[in-house]
Amino acid sequence: TLGRLKNRELRLDTATRELWLYLRDKLRDGDWSKTPAETEDLRSKLLHSVKEQLDLLSLHASDTQDAIDSFISEGWRDTLARETATLVQKRLHHLQNPENCDNAKKLLCRISKPCGFGCQIHHAAYCFIFAYATERMLVLDSSGWRYSGKWEAVFQPLGTSNCKATCHTGGISPLSAPFLFHSLTCAHTLTHTHTLEPLGAQPWSSYKEPHPPQVIQAPAIESLGSMSKPSFLPMAVPADLVERLTSFHGYPFLWVVGQFLQYLMRPSQQLGEYLEERRKFLNISHPIVGVHIRRTDKLQQEASYHSVEEYMTQVEEWYDRRETMYGKKEEKRVYLATDDQTALNQAIEAYPNYKFVSDNDVSKTAGELSSRYSQRGLYGVVLDVVMLSECDYIVCTLSSQVCRLAYELMQAHHVDASRLVYSLDDVYYFGGQQEHVLRAIHRKTENGGGNLDFAKGDLIKIAGNHLNGFSLGNRQGGHVRRELFPSYKAEEEIRVANFPTYPEVS
Ligand code: GDP
Repeated sequence: TLGRLKNRELRLDTATRELWLYLRDKLRDGDWSKTPAETEDLRSKLLHSVKEQLDLLSLHASDTQDAIDSFISEGWRDTLARETATLVQKRLHHLQNPENCDNAKKLLCRISKPCGFGCQIHHAAYCFIFAYATERMLVLDSSGWRYSGKWEAVFQPLGTSNCKATCHTGGISPLSAPFLFHSLTCAHTLTHTHTLEPLGAQPWSSYKEPHPPQVIQAPAIESLGSMSKPSFLPMAVPADLVERLTSFHGYPFLWVVGQFLQYLMRPSQQLGEYLEERRKFLNISHPIVGVHIRRTDKLQQEASYHSVEEYMTQVEEWYDRRETMYGKKEEKRVYLATDDQTALNQAIEAYPNYKFVSDNDVSKTAGELSSRYSQRGLYGVVLDVVMLSECDYIVCTLSSQVCRLAYELMQAHHVDASRLVYSLDDVYYFGGQQEHVLRAIHRKTENGGGNLDFAKGDLIKIAGNHLNGFSLGNRQGGHVRRELFPSYKAEEEIRVANFPTYPEVS
């Protein structure tokens, strides 16, 4: 194994050096003073060759990783990832099933936010992180949920114990009702203003140690000013898990939020049957790339239009990389999810060498859905999110909560899926998060390009990656004005916070 490791190390080193020598030679001034046609020819050969060399570099990097893995012990990363996931799921189960319901501390979270499905699930995920960080059982109030009226129609209850809680209808007559942890079963009899009454929830602002209220209501994440955000808010990673996570995952917060979502989105029996039925019908095989094209209302203010070609260029590159890696051609499949039917039609027409699988393909789905699932809306978006998360790679716009959700859930299916997405716009973020910072790993020198200057180790607040080698940001505690800097000079800074360690869960 040591020999293999040394060999991979040499390959990496050689490939990097050769790439530099090649670029230096090709970019010499003289070569560019040619006719436009010759320049174009040179440019396209250069692009092709650099891409091929980079694909090989990434192949050598993953080979090196494999060699390291087998040197340490076969499959250790896999085992560590699985064990950590089991631990977190056990903790969440424990939190949601307290021995004594009456005394348990609770966090009440209302999910009737006036926004789309992805946005509402992210609100629930934020509440769940809040609950975990404050050791409070999460109680979701889904009364009036615009999607289905109640959570349990779609997902499993968040807890299963038979817990009793006192519920006041309209604040007049006390009523002892069987109270399932997952929702305010009595809340539907109340008006919105009374909804919190059964649990006597107090606002977060009234939270005071050493006698915190038994039930608090989760504040909207946006309502917490940057100064008053608790340190455990996204994208913080629990201190007791960070060492394990950094051993197998490239973006620990993403992995953590994926675990919370996995627990939250366990399908109800009916949704489970629906997903199974659709899965069989769509008959997906691997490899497959998930493409999410978000248009319609999103283009009014929140995101820009991207053509089908922009998405498909990334898909082509992904399949090309695989061909270089495995040395064989494969059937090119795409799972296409979109809120714009025309995008699917365009893709099918322009890319006849691809097999497109889509729940939007009404020509194929009409009459196939059993009548039990006549309401496609909610189930449709859940299906698309789940299917995207099961793909081998996703191309999308991370400005969309639908794609962020799929990318987060994807983490639970792989040891490290942090690199398995290509976003045509934003970098990954969690709405309402604390400052997103990178740490400079090289000092910024003049010839690196851009205007932002920093020293090695400086923290940089990132506003976005321009996908051309440059990112936009400003130095923490320095420039207020955002400027460009070379993206390769900085890396994600992991934000670590102290969370409870749940020692009672083995
Ligand atoms: P965002 O607006 O894209 O950030 O995400 P939201 O989930 O908050 O709102 C978008 C809504 O549009 C979703 O909840 C869906 O109702 C719908 N939608 C967007 N993209 C898709 C898709 O690919 N498939 C389906 N079925 N619905 C989608």
